[in-house]
Amino acid sequence: MSVQADGDTEIRADYPHAVRAAVLRSVGGPMVVETIKLKAVGRGDVRVRIEQTGVCHSDLSLATGKLAQNLPAVLGHEACGTVVETGADVTDLTEGQRVILLWITPCRECFPCTHGQPYLCETGSSRSTEPYALTESGEPVYPGLTVGSFAEQTVVPRGAVVAVPNDITTADAALLGCAVTTGVGAAIHTAHVSSGSSVLVIGLGGVGLSVLQGARMAGATTIMAVDRNPDKAEQALAAGATHFLPADDQLKKAVRALTEKRGADFGFDCVGAPPTIRDTWSLTRRGGAVTLVGIGGKDDAVPFSALELFHFARTLRGCVAGSVDAESDMAQFFDWVRSGQLDLRGLVTGHGQLSDVDHVLHELAAGRGVRTLLTPAGKVTL
Ligand SMILES: [Zn+2]
Ligand SMILES: [Zn+2]
Repeated sequence: MSVQADGDTEIRADYPHAVRAAVLRSVGGPMVVETIKLKAVGRGDVRVRIEQTGVCHSDLSLATGKLAQNLPAVLGHEACGTVVETGADVTDLTEGQRVILLWITPCRECFPCTHGQPYLCETGSSRSTEPYALTESGEPVYPGLTVGSFAEQTVVPRGAVVAVPNDITTADAALLGCAVTTGVGAAIHTAHVSSGSSVLVIGLGGVGLSVLQGARMAGATTIMAVDRNPDKAEQALAAGATHFLPADDQLKKAVRALTEKRGADFGFDCVGAPPTIRDTWSLTRRGGAVTLVGIGGKDDAVPFSALELFHFARTLRGCVAGSVDAESDMAQFFDWVRSGQLDLRGLVTGHGQLSDVDHVLHELAAGRGVRTLLTPAGKVTL
């Protein structure tokens, strides 16, 4: 491009792809579907048409300001799409290939990446603070959790997608982009749930239900599912729970009765709120493992006494992205879906269009439904 080019010319040249997107302009504000212009595909990038995208609790946290987000932004990070353009250096993907979008893109060079923890990559999510599009009036737009799937298309590096085999449906692939890998990964990769063990899961959204499936696959024999919404019982039992327990004042008694008064071997908090973290901690046995899967707020303090940390000898561990390395672990997830061990259909409680996203977030905030799949680019046949 000529350095003499005026500003407008430059913008048009660098941001050539006009697509419809649900744009969040203010914390707590609505997401309005409008046209944005995506950046040009760089040598190592791919442009992807978003076929289906789930609406995740993290989207809600970003939209409401619980998690920080540069604005204006296009949220959405749990998606399956189709490659429509590849950069010159991308030789292993072609147009028409379906892919899962990843919200962590490991650099493969930093300390965590070279020490077996690529899901903790130091720069894995940094693209969320870099503009990837412009509004029609020229403001920079940021991709929520690096993906920006509440739009017809997005542009991401090649390393931010995983190819989807032909026998995996688009809907299943979309769910593997966040909730399922996080939840199943939390049980299997993070906590290493063991055969014959007892498991307690608090918070039955897409992630919590996936933890139940992971616990079942790991061979846990007592799987206790807890939620404030009793309507979740049926889904919990279908996902592998042996018992559904309402989140009420009888909870402690119920867990003790099912664990010979010890508490669960493995506890999972899938809410990320101080009271549920405390409950998960208290309902896990002495010497047991507590895994925090839900994302809490930075000002939400959780009190622990020094004595109890010592006395109960529990492990308390955070879990980012299910400790999953998508590049190497996704094949296993595809196999679980093929064999029927992993049932993703049960997670989908609704379908919608891009313009439905605010309504879907509202329902999630109220604890209703699990996963609504949006179809930003139109009809999906697979
Ligand atoms: Zn998510
Ligand atoms: Zn890295």
